Amino acid sequence: MNQPIRCYGCGAILQTDDQKKVGYIPQIKDNGKPLLCQRCFRLQHYHKLEKTSLQSDDFLKILQQISEKPGLIVYIIDLFDFNGSMLQGLTRHLPGKDILVVANKRDLLPKLCNNTKITHWIYRHLKEYGIKPVDVLITSAKKNFQVETLMALIEKYRQQQDVYVVGVTNAGKSTLINALLKAFMQKEDLPLITTSEFPGTTLDLIAIELDETHRLYDTPGIVNSHQLTLHVADRDLKAIVPQSEVKQQIYQLNDGQSLYVGGLARLDFLKGEKTSFAGFFSNRLKIHRCKLERADEIFTNDQVISPKALNVKEIQDMASYTFSIPEGKHDVVISGLGWFSLKGQHQKIRVYAPQEVGVFIRQSLV
Ligand code: GDP
Repeated sequence: MNQPIRCYGCGAILQTDDQKKVGYIPQIKDNGKPLLCQRCFRLQHYHKLEKTSLQSDDFLKILQQISEKPGLIVYIIDLFDFNGSMLQGLTRHLPGKDILVVANKRDLLPKLCNNTKITHWIYRHLKEYGIKPVDVLITSAKKNFQVETLMALIEKYRQQQDVYVVGVTNAGKSTLINALLKAFMQKEDLPLITTSEFPGTTLDLIAIELDETHRLYDTPGIVNSHQLTLHVADRDLKAIVPQSEVKQQIYQLNDGQSLYVGGLARLDFLKGEKTSFAGFFSNRLKIHRCKLERADEIFTNDQVISPKALNVKEIQDMASYTFSIPEGKHDVVISGLGWFSLKGQHQKIRVYAPQEVGVFIRQSLV
């Protein structure tokens, strides 16, 4: 008798009879190549399926649609780029909706940080954007941290309704949904993944069955022009976007000194007492310290100052912002790149960053 053929993803015996049962495959082609059941196939190809992104007009249309239906919003934000993760007008377009905020990429922040403190920080900052979530959960899709809890919270807050997952591109939406799917798949009831056209649009959305009548919809990521990743060449992304825990690097600066972060940003310490600046950036980005008076000239030296943003050749091609740092611990944030943390004493600081990339002062996160 022939051996049954198994799916190399989940190990289920492949069958062509029942789409709702494990191991379903439309056709078994036994040509010696490993086969995947439909569910594993979709899981593997999920990333590719999902990768459409939206400009804000389309996104508003989707929010409009969602606002007319009952359901829970799961809002994924990137802890490493909190400001860049903010969706303008989210609450305005979704009045009265329950929003569960998932703060992803915890693994990039120092391990020593206290999660309760981070959560409080998130609540405070969400409030500034007018968002009052039903709950905030810190996760790492990459490390599978809190994925089971996320499942439980979705079940708790959705109150037997649909779920809509929203977020800016790169917050980790697909990775998190993949992690959720894997967690689901370990349970007995395997969810079915389908794509369906979102009402009123031509967009194919991924929908995951939560029960017989309700689904979790993954909306396409929206592009936020504040995100640094839009302004750099693909080949440089790997160095810029941190892949693991960012270790703080401390620099004692006197006024009249500058720090380059690769060639993507520069901090000038214009005026103030000697100050300690803690940099939180990808470990692969080189921080270069120099005298302020020489800083412009050094910028053109690509051996020392790199990588640079697209369309930036001279320092004048970047935007500059001047701040006085309020008292207390504050971060000078360059959205998507990282931040410098310092004890504020009204120091005068200037920051250069690519045009459009958000530069902010905020209360310290860590
Ligand atoms: P999406 O655009 O929101 O769907 O984001 P993706 O899921 O494609 O993730 C964007 C990038 O962030 C990818 O390089 C992921 O590997 C990475 N990523 C996603 N989740 C995490 C996480 O929890 N930690 C870290 N360090 N990286 C993550």
